[in-house]
This record gives sequence, C-alpha cells and structure tokens, in this order.
Amino acid sequence: MAEIFVLVEHRQGKIRDITYEMLGAAEKLASEQGSSSTALLLGHHVKTFADELAARASKVLVVEDAQLEHFNSILYQKILSSLITKYQPFLTLIGHTAFGMDLAPSLTVEMGSPLVTDCIGLSFEGSRLKAVRSIYGGKVNANVSLRESKNYIATVRPGAFTPAVPADKKAGIVMESSPLQGMIDVKKFLEYIEAPITGEDITQAEIIVSVGQGIGGPEHIPMIEEVAKSLGGVVACSRPVVDRNWLPKERQVGISGKTVKPKVYIAIGISGAFQHVTAMQGSETIIAINKDPRAPIFGVADYGIVDDFQNVIPILKEKTKGMK
Ligand SMILES: Cc1cc2nc3c(=O)[nH]c(=O)nc-3n(C[C@H](O)[C@H](O)[C@H](O)COP(=O)(O)OP(=O)(O)OC[C@H]3O[C@@H](n4cnc5c(N)ncnc54)[C@H](O)[C@@H]3O)c2cc1C
Repeated sequence: MAEIFVLVEHRQGKIRDITYEMLGAAEKLASEQGSSSTALLLGHHVKTFADELAARASKVLVVEDAQLEHFNSILYQKILSSLITKYQPFLTLIGHTAFGMDLAPSLTVEMGSPLVTDCIGLSFEGSRLKAVRSIYGGKVNANVSLRESKNYIATVRPGAFTPAVPADKKAGIVMESSPLQGMIDVKKFLEYIEAPITGEDITQAEIIVSVGQGIGGPEHIPMIEEVAKSLGGVVACSRPVVDRNWLPKERQVGISGKTVKPKVYIAIGISGAFQHVTAMQGSETIIAINKDPRAPIFGVADYGIVDDFQNVIPILKEKTKGMK
C-alpha cells in the first residue's frame, strides 16, 4: 500500500506537538496496513527539524524555499498538490489547527479527494478510510466511512492521538526541489501576534492547581491560590469558571483555552469533559479531587480523592505550608 503523508507543522522555530501526534497515528495505521509514514517538511533552514523527524517517520521529504519561512496556505497548497500528484500517498494527515483549517479545504478541492476533518480516530475498512469524529460538543462520536478513493485527506484533532516516540533508527531524508516559481505574494505573512498575557503564563508552569465549577464560587479561589503558591505553582481553571468571571480567560485550560503539560496537574471540582481533558492529559502526574466517584476526570487521573474539596484543601494547605 502507498505511504501515509504527515504534514509537519512548525512555528517560530519549533515543531508543534500535533506533528508528533499525527506521526503516532500514521505509524499505527502504517503498521496495520503494511505501509509507511512520510513526514512532509516545508520550510527554510529546517535541517535540524529534518534530523529530529527522521527518528519518528519512515521517510522525511523536505522542500526548502525562502518563501516558506512562515506558513502560507497558498504556497503549502501548491507544494502539497505537487507532492501528492507525484507520490500518490493513500492518506495525507494535516493538523486540525488554524494552519490546517486554512489549508485542507482548498487543497481537497484541488485534488478532488475526500476530506474528513477533526478526526479523533482513523482506521481502514479494506482500502476505505474510516474515521471517528466527535460532534455536538463531544456528546456524540460519529463513525464515518469515506467513499472509495486513491487519496484521502484528513485533519486530526490536537491531543487525540498518542505522539510517536523517537526510534534508534534514522529514516532517510529526501530533498525535493521546490515547485514554487517566482514570488507569490497574493497572501503574505506579516507578523505573529501572541495573545497578551497579563498574569501568569499557565503553559509554562510546572505545577498547576486547576479549579472547576465544582468549587461553587470565587470566594474559594484565594485559598486555592495559597496552596498553588506554596507548591510553586499557578492557578488555572475550566471554561465555566471563565464564563462566570471567576478567573480571566488566560487561565482557561481546554480546546478553547490553553494546552498545558505540567509536571503536576491538580484538578479540583472539574468533571473531566473531553474539551478540558484533551488539553491537560499530557501532564506528568494528574491528581483529581471530586466528590463524585464516577466523574470522568478519574479516568485520566493518576491519583484520585473522592471528597468535598472543602475537606481536602485545608489539609493540603496545611501540608504544603512553606514548601516553596
Ligand atoms: C465548543 C466547546 C468548547 C469548550 N471548551 C472548553 C475548554 O476549553 N475548557 C473547558 O474546561 N471546558 C470547555 N468546554 C466545556 C466542557 O464541555 C464542560 O462543560 C466543562 O469542562 C465543565 O467544566 P467543569 O468540569 O468545571 O464543570 P462541571 O462539569 O459542572 O463539573 C463540576 C464537577 O465538580 C464536582 N463537584 C461539585 N461540587 C464539588 C465539591 N464540593 N467538591 C468536589 N467536587 C465537586 C462535580 O462532581 C463535577 O464533577 C467546551 C464546550 C464546548 C461545547
């Protein structure tokens, strides 16, 4: 069977996590199908990225061009359509990210291939691609089967697949000449504007104490802030806490907030909806405090305390006093 392409997503000198997750998904599919995974790396001065990816894919295809320093969907589409036509991959995986949402629909129209978006599961039924899509805000999973085609394109939800781990063996790196001819400036990169961070940057914290709607009201936040401070951590939250104005938006963890991977994530009064869990399940150790033993958060927690948080926090406060 033909290979599976994975479009490498990188920004400001870093390969984004979604790339490794797609390579993990591609590797699994490829091993089931007797196929192989190919990382497609488009950029400028990206040799170090190619070396890094060579440990996680069967092959790395690199297109170097000064115009590719920053993501540009028009340039990416030109190159991808040329590579797909040349190599005829069975499947091309693209992140369901701001980049991928910009690129995948028009690429699909150009290629005439079926597209399935925001996938949380991928499999084959014979030579047909099947996908799982989470719909209605995560309440229903839809199993979709795509029409027969030689090439499929799928966008992959961040956080849905286990990242590929580096192997000892290094894959071959193949340099492709850029099909871009002349300067293309119908769409131009101007600058990156990061959302302003007025307080703590929760994505950089090693310890996060996160609160959910279960804390009942903002009057409990100072006590939790104290615990976080003693541990040398920061306070984050679920979306309802932001919706109720108990904490600012920059503290929100989840698909419509920030993705975090601290050493320790303490979830207090958080039920564990997938929109939240997706963005914190990469934490090294997860501790959940919830009075409902059936709360889904316990499904991802390494340690769980089934109790009212008001019984637990004073003990935690006492035990952590002066730790930092
Ligand atoms: C498009 C979309 C995007 C979304 N994006 C996000 C996102 O980015 N981040 C996010 O978090 N959510 C997001 N959500 C919302 C998400 O679906 C959940 O509604 C939300 O995560 C639930 O927040 P929660 O766990 O704080 O509240 P709840 O679901 O209300 O859970 C509260 C929990 O607290 C427990 N509890 C209650 N009282 C106590 C007590 N005294 N002591 C201990 N435990 C107690 C309860 O047992 C319960 O498990 C999104 C939803 C949609 C549709």
